[in-house]
Amino acid sequence: MPDPETMFRRVLIANRGEIALRIIRACQELGIETVCVYSEADADAPYLRLADRAICIGPGPSKDSYLNIPRIIAAAEIADVDAIHPGYGFLSERADFAAICRDCKIEFIGPSPEAMGKLGDKVEAKRYAKAAKVPVFPGSEGAIEEEEEAVEVAAEIGYPVIIKAAAGGGGRGMRVCHNEATLRTNIKKAQQEALAAFGNGAVFIEKFLERARHVEVQILGDKHGHAIHLFERDCSLQRRHQKVIEEAPGPGIDRKKITGVAESAAKLVKSAEYAGAATVEFLMDDDQNFYMLEVNTRVQVEHPVTEMITGVDIVKMSIMIAAGEPLPYKQKDIKVNGHAMECRINAENPDKNFMPSAGVIDTLYLPGGPGVRMDSHVVPGYRVPPNYDSMIGKLIVHADDRKQCMTRMKRALTELTIGPIHTTIPLHLRLMENADFGTGGVDIHYLERLLK
Ligand code: ADP
Repeated sequence: MPDPETMFRRVLIANRGEIALRIIRACQELGIETVCVYSEADADAPYLRLADRAICIGPGPSKDSYLNIPRIIAAAEIADVDAIHPGYGFLSERADFAAICRDCKIEFIGPSPEAMGKLGDKVEAKRYAKAAKVPVFPGSEGAIEEEEEAVEVAAEIGYPVIIKAAAGGGGRGMRVCHNEATLRTNIKKAQQEALAAFGNGAVFIEKFLERARHVEVQILGDKHGHAIHLFERDCSLQRRHQKVIEEAPGPGIDRKKITGVAESAAKLVKSAEYAGAATVEFLMDDDQNFYMLEVNTRVQVEHPVTEMITGVDIVKMSIMIAAGEPLPYKQKDIKVNGHAMECRINAENPDKNFMPSAGVIDTLYLPGGPGVRMDSHVVPGYRVPPNYDSMIGKLIVHADDRKQCMTRMKRALTELTIGPIHTTIPLHLRLMENADFGTGGVDIHYLERLLK
């Protein structure tokens, strides 16, 4: 149990939807009062009633509410909170927000702005990765200034190569080049684009992998210089760079190999003096070689699959770490137990090119039974607002092995009923029957090929 002397009294949750509810739940179990901020579009969201206090911070558009730092800080001061949990998305990876919190003597539940700066920048992160012996893509040593430099590096590593923005995110700011001519035409454009989009024109190049799986490692670091890994998740089923299904552990991955990669990822996080939850993302090729993509400096959507196989509550840990608690686990305490899978349930119509499907939910039946967990903020009568990301919940199941996990997921998906809005449930049911997914090891472009 956490130390009552140092644990936060009251935490503000600067987020919405299922992750706001997830954080409320973690706080309640830690004996911490919660303050939820909300936009006018979320005024009737049911989870707000579970918080000790809810404060409206502005109209629906995110820039006027969930991304509006002065309004969030004002709410935090009015409610007299000790800390702010940013969840994922919105302000969670903004070093400037973390710095403002610190200036206002409010603990930001996440890494320090310095640690975020080191690992949030892709060029910097690669430097730390190399020092910690984390495998990275062959590519430029740092940012590329001149066209000639890019051409030289590309000739050395071989085409295709990818140009990336150091400050890029969300799948933006990348260009794949198959030969010298396209590299030459793209390098300056990429620099200009990066400057316009991210306020930082630094770009770098690395080898482009045509076929790969997405494998990521969950890390927890504390303020006392310790960091541990919680093994990996496979998130290869993606559409437009958005993960659709995630699972842990990764099917068919050599345990010795991934354990080595995970240990070096923990070293990387530790070397950046990073406290909080972090994810080190990799692409893995057919020979199970790993190449680091980037480090995400926050709790991720897919954290529950790791919680299910390790028994570690990642959201609670993020709060306890921010309060200064040492990690209550040693690396040897972390074991993989069984298999877990998560289906993201989005309010979208898979038959109409995933068109968003906002509106009122009047039919709702949530699944249950052994090994089933539903992380969702929806209730009967809930109106899905059109303003935000379309994810309305995550169905997570746990079983002894992958095969039983998929059987259980199919059973739970059949129970789950949401109407009359459209959801991605039919797509998930189809994937549970898919033979390629069933044998494991589909690559990151598989789903887009399947949906063509
Ligand atoms: P972002 O921060 O924008 O998400 P990432 O570096 O994580 O950028 O890359 C996003 C996606 O682009 C990856 O998930 C992968 O699909 C693709 N990608 C990035 N780098 C490479 C690479 N070197 N080879 C192949 N695909 C890549």
